[in-house]
Amino acid sequence: MNRFAWVNARTIEEASAAVSATVADAMTELAGNAAAGDTAVLKAGGVDVLDLLKEGLLAPARIVSLRGIPGLDAVVEEAGGGLRIGSMATLSRLADHPVVRRRYPALSEAVRASASPQIRNVATLGGNLLQRPRCWYFRAHEYHCLRKGGGHCFAIAGENQYHAIFDNRPCAIVHPSTAATALVALGATVELADAQGAVRQVLLEDFFGPPDRDLQRENDLKPREVLTAIRLPALPAGTHMAHLKQGEKDSFDWPLADVAVVLELSPDGSCRKAALVLGTAAPVPHRAKQAEGLLAGKHIGEDLAREAGRAALEGATPLAKNAYKLPLFETLVRRAILKAALG
Ligand SMILES: Cc1cc2nc3c(=O)[nH]c(=O)nc-3n(C[C@H](O)[C@H](O)[C@H](O)COP(=O)(O)OP(=O)(O)OC[C@H]3O[C@@H](n4cnc5c(N)ncnc54)[C@H](O)[C@@H]3O)c2cc1C
Ligand code: SF4
Repeated sequence: MNRFAWVNARTIEEASAAVSATVADAMTELAGNAAAGDTAVLKAGGVDVLDLLKEGLLAPARIVSLRGIPGLDAVVEEAGGGLRIGSMATLSRLADHPVVRRRYPALSEAVRASASPQIRNVATLGGNLLQRPRCWYFRAHEYHCLRKGGGHCFAIAGENQYHAIFDNRPCAIVHPSTAATALVALGATVELADAQGAVRQVLLEDFFGPPDRDLQRENDLKPREVLTAIRLPALPAGTHMAHLKQGEKDSFDWPLADVAVVLELSPDGSCRKAALVLGTAAPVPHRAKQAEGLLAGKHIGEDLAREAGRAALEGATPLAKNAYKLPLFETLVRRAILKAALG
């Protein structure tokens, strides 16, 4: 790990003025030059930043901590019925937050299914959404792959059992955030601020970007921006939801597959609108639009849920070692739809 200076930001403007690069840009620069530049990056809980420092994949001159900024972890119900979650709210707090549990159970289920209790006590929602991919070639110093500015993807013909089954060319990462699966299904937006006080709101689904938009960045965070909040919309009456995860083991583990379903049911029980998102399936949380279309206007039961499970996998292009994910997702989609619709 390199030596770095520590900066305790006291305001969002101070943090934004002190930071010079996103972690993605700092890593690409380091991989290209093999020397620590004069970069300053942001740190929230520090779980991912520390991992990258220890691997020598990140070597900033300064680390700017967001922990000392008052109110950045506030969770507030908004006048219009939505919920504003400060980016520094920890995963453990959200897992147990009474409003999140009551109104957005898919989110509390997703964060409770993430990592271990110790990690959830430290990791923040903002950091979770912005963590870098877990591809083991990407995380190993020895492999200068496409995402680090190199010329080759080692996963496509290599050990790809944990990689994407959709949109997996030229880079086959899966999006690492479990919370993002639920947040995209819920129609969340992110709020981003810069040193001049300008604030922009972006639909989370659009904030994340596939490799063909940008091969070295997973999202549209600008170099001096601070993610200040994640906003959840008010939900119409009759909204039901679920998040399900399947890992290799029940204790803390990354998902092999996870699914979030948000259904808007009419008083007669038919489905007015559906959002169905597959996590750990593609470089971004993957909207299963064909399955969503299939559910709309119909009464949900076992047969329809099974059909939607099959439709959700249309267009999948599994790699040599990850076709096992297809039946896994099919089952999870069916179960998540039934859990959301019938409880
Ligand atoms: C053993 C293990 C198991 C795990 N399992 C899971 C899992 O199942 N599901 C899952 O989703 N995750 C899992 N994780 C990942 C973990 O949840 C993330 O590393 C963590 O959530 C990152 O949050 P953080 O606050 O520590 O972020 P940090 O490490 O502090 O930051 C992460 C990134 O976000 C940037 N950043 C942070 N906050 C802001 C902000 N407000 N504005 C702008 N940029 C910001 C940083 O610059 C950095 O690039 C696991 C990790 C481990 C070690
Ligand atoms: S999947 Fe992406 S991150 Fe992994 S080796 Fe290939 S290019 Fe690199």
